[in-house]
Amino acid sequence: MRDLFKQAREKAPCIVFIDEIDTIGKKRDGSGLGGNEEREQTLNQLLAEMDGFDGSKGVVILAATNRPESLDQALLRPGRFDRRIPVELPDLAGREAILRVHAKDVKIGTNIDFNVVARATAGASGAELANIVNEAALLAVKDDRDIVSQKDFDEAVETVIAGYQRKGAVISNREKLIVSYHEIGHALVAGLTKNSAPVHKITIIPRTSGALGYTMQVEEEESNLISKEEAIARIATMTGGRAAEEVVFKSVTSGAANDIEQATKLARAMVTRLGMSDKFDMMALETVTNQYLGGDTQLACSADTATRVDEEVLKIIKEAHAYAVDLLTKNIDKLHELAKYLYEKETITGEEFMEILHNGANA
Ligand code: ZN
Repeated sequence: MRDLFKQAREKAPCIVFIDEIDTIGKKRDGSGLGGNEEREQTLNQLLAEMDGFDGSKGVVILAATNRPESLDQALLRPGRFDRRIPVELPDLAGREAILRVHAKDVKIGTNIDFNVVARATAGASGAELANIVNEAALLAVKDDRDIVSQKDFDEAVETVIAGYQRKGAVISNREKLIVSYHEIGHALVAGLTKNSAPVHKITIIPRTSGALGYTMQVEEEESNLISKEEAIARIATMTGGRAAEEVVFKSVTSGAANDIEQATKLARAMVTRLGMSDKFDMMALETVTNQYLGGDTQLACSADTATRVDEEVLKIIKEAHAYAVDLLTKNIDKLHELAKYLYEKETITGEEFMEILHNGANA
């Protein structure tokens, strides 16, 4: 480590890149047991070396990891790795560009349409796309041709993606359509409801976390308080995804599992801790037992009251859900228009969303 940074100082301006930083940067457990001593020494040395650098030394230190949550907090303090850049799976335009980069190394026909290939590979990573180009080249070689054709690419997509599909990363067109409606459902309820934070970004590119899409809302101002109206609007927005599936497909999927969990959590907090239900007024029905680890709660009421708490929580969720279904039914044209647009684009910004919501896609 000392030698690495000595070299960096000599060669400045330069970039130090540490791949898979989690192998040395894992959280120190402090137990002092096991064979971690060498790793911890390396980490300590890295921290010490990084403290010796400032912006004027001309050395930029970059690191990559697939497991940011496992990193030692000390690494992420200001002056060390203080800026995080999440690299998510590429969107349609990104996939097309990545395919073009890899195709530079192989002889391809003049009429290859990379957009078609990119469309067929929603959810594929950069490495998977490189593999598709490679596979297409192999197909051409097997066939004794010098030039890779569109048909080779189509076949390569099938061979490679069929393999990945089993792992669940790449989604079918049917699922992509359902996810589009689901996400627009969230966004439309947010966009059409007072007291709701503006939509910032909507995407149907699968996350590495396993989520098939998400709608990101960003509050206009940072706030620490949440009003009852905002809480209700938030729950309505959470039910919007499922509501859109019901309104359009007359059927529901497992895609709302996380929404259900979040909505229930918030509705329960409204009743048991925030004094936001008429029935229980300002009575605390739950106590927070663990402030740190996710804020575990424990019921602090009789079994009979617990039953009535459940009823109240259900009532809040049901009302929000019914409101979302009603709102989306009344705005079904916008739902179709926006879902179609998202399906095509895969990622849209909040501005695009508002533009179509108020003026239509062709305005
Ligand atoms: Zn959802």
